[in-house]
Amino acid sequence: MALVLKAAFEHFSCPAVEALNLPKSSFLWRNREALERASRKAHAELESQARRHNTRTPQKVPCQKHFYKAFLQELYPDACVKLIERRLSQTYARHCNPLQLIDWTVPQKFLRKSSQFGAMVFFKTVCNSWTCSARYHDGRLASCAFGCTAERGSLEHYLACQGLWGLVHRASAHFVSDNVLQRLCIIEPSPNHLNNLIIAYTVYHSLKSSRLQLLCDAVATGNFDHVQGVGMDIARAAAERQ
Ligand SMILES: [Zn+2]
Repeated sequence: MALVLKAAFEHFSCPAVEALNLPKSSFLWRNREALERASRKAHAELESQARRHNTRTPQKVPCQKHFYKAFLQELYPDACVKLIERRLSQTYARHCNPLQLIDWTVPQKFLRKSSQFGAMVFFKTVCNSWTCSARYHDGRLASCAFGCTAERGSLEHYLACQGLWGLVHRASAHFVSDNVLQRLCIIEPSPNHLNNLIIAYTVYHSLKSSRLQLLCDAVATGNFDHVQGVGMDIARAAAERQ
């Protein structure tokens, strides 16, 4: 067993990489130190696992899995977190400052247990991927669709929009937080907060995709009663599906 581990470790160690005679500009060469660190980490973990299980059947030890996981963490550290932080700082500066106080392991653990649709809604929201006119620059719904006439039709506003979240509050059986980071499930995430976010997401996109003229008429006339009525039906139906 020890020989198998030693061979695996040496295969990925510095002399082995040099023996491959890779061009110095190659990706592997540039990341050689990171790969060495990953190799040592994977090797230590494999040895630890072997000691715990006291096994003499090396073919059953998932060497490749350990090395793959270690390499991934070294070469792409927190890539998803970096992307989210960049989007949050660009799009939601007024809601998410300062970002450095956020413990990203909390939403990461939470999302692993969430539904696929819930996780999709989370990522589409934190990455500013709602179909808002402010993002599309389509000019069709420049101001808020729910009655805040002084506000742009942007996701930054919709995350705090009283018209939209008032619908969520009335349709949902769960507490609706005033804290945007909690609404986003970035701090203190819970299935209830995610369900509320799903309702808000569903109301906006259902209205925007199938009742655009209704929204445009409301913005033009300043009368949002019909929008609130249709939005409430959508919100209740979304809440019942949770
Ligand atoms: Zn609004």
